[in-house]
Amino acid sequence: KRKVEIDADALLKSILNKSISALSRAITLIESSNPKHQNKSNYIINGCLPHANKSVRIGITGVPGVGKSTFIETLGNNLTKQGKKVAVLAVDPSSTVTKGSILGDKTRMESLAKNPNAFIRPSASGNMLGGVAKKTRETIILCEAAGFDVIIIETVGVGQSETTVACMVDFFLLLKLAGAGDELQGIKRGIIEMADVIAINKADGNNIKPAKLAKVEFNRALHYLPQKVSQWQPQVLTCSALQNEGIEEIWEAILNYFEITKANQYFNEKRNEQDKYWLMQTIENQLKANFFNSPKIKAALQEQLTLMAQHRTTAFAAANYILNL
Ligand code: GDP
Repeated sequence: KRKVEIDADALLKSILNKSISALSRAITLIESSNPKHQNKSNYIINGCLPHANKSVRIGITGVPGVGKSTFIETLGNNLTKQGKKVAVLAVDPSSTVTKGSILGDKTRMESLAKNPNAFIRPSASGNMLGGVAKKTRETIILCEAAGFDVIIIETVGVGQSETTVACMVDFFLLLKLAGAGDELQGIKRGIIEMADVIAINKADGNNIKPAKLAKVEFNRALHYLPQKVSQWQPQVLTCSALQNEGIEEIWEAILNYFEITKANQYFNEKRNEQDKYWLMQTIENQLKANFFNSPKIKAALQEQLTLMAQHRTTAFAAANYILNL
């Protein structure tokens, strides 16, 4: 037991000393499904917690091809030039299906990957969004303890992953393209409502004019949305991630957002709400798992399902019976 603690302790110290390789190893530990690693990773996370929370956490989403990795690479390189340390994580629940996460392809973000002040970590594997989310939340804490002050969480613009990412970031950026309808872009209205800034990417060459038009249209659409609790008025901007045009303006808007929400306390309130949410989620998931994994419940469930198929009980009566066990 003692040996385990010494090992984890050394890893923790190295993380706090800003060692990237220690950070990498600790994340691998967190992602491990081996129950023996659980104690070690909990020890490290607890040790990192007092040093976390000092970053800004930014979610970025958009359909495949919109330019997320190009954008993150450009923004990331700009920020490291200003002395910031940038960590890029991904939430991609589809990664097990497509056999490779959105960041798994090493050719993406090539220059950022080589940047000593950037840290890129592909999505944790896992077929359950809940599991991926837990690992991502814990990875954020480790990255912050290792001195990363800008945490970017990338996710694909499909499915439920945006909602999950929105529950772990301070700011949400939606990348879009001009000219394609929302249906074509696979973006649901809910995601537009979540966005703090919408950036219309690929505003270069022949695309500048359509991008400006799209900006006007989106701005009009945003005016119909109710005022946000953050009191922040979402903005629509255009950019070219490829040519590093408009990226600076987007960062300015992000900084402006943080200024406003830190002044009106929304920033802290939101983080507290998120902590509460994940606490409740974790308890709920664990209770559910414990319940459904119990042999007694499994047997009773089978038995009641059979009775129900024979019309000898109802769904409600069966549920009551099982819950009373
Ligand atoms: P992702 O799937 O959202 O990560 O998109 P990528 O960053 O991989 O970009 C998809 C394609 O669009 C690549 O060929 C990029 O070079 C291109 N691309 C990305 N940003 C821009 C941009 O601002 N302008 C132009 N013209 N092409 C871009």
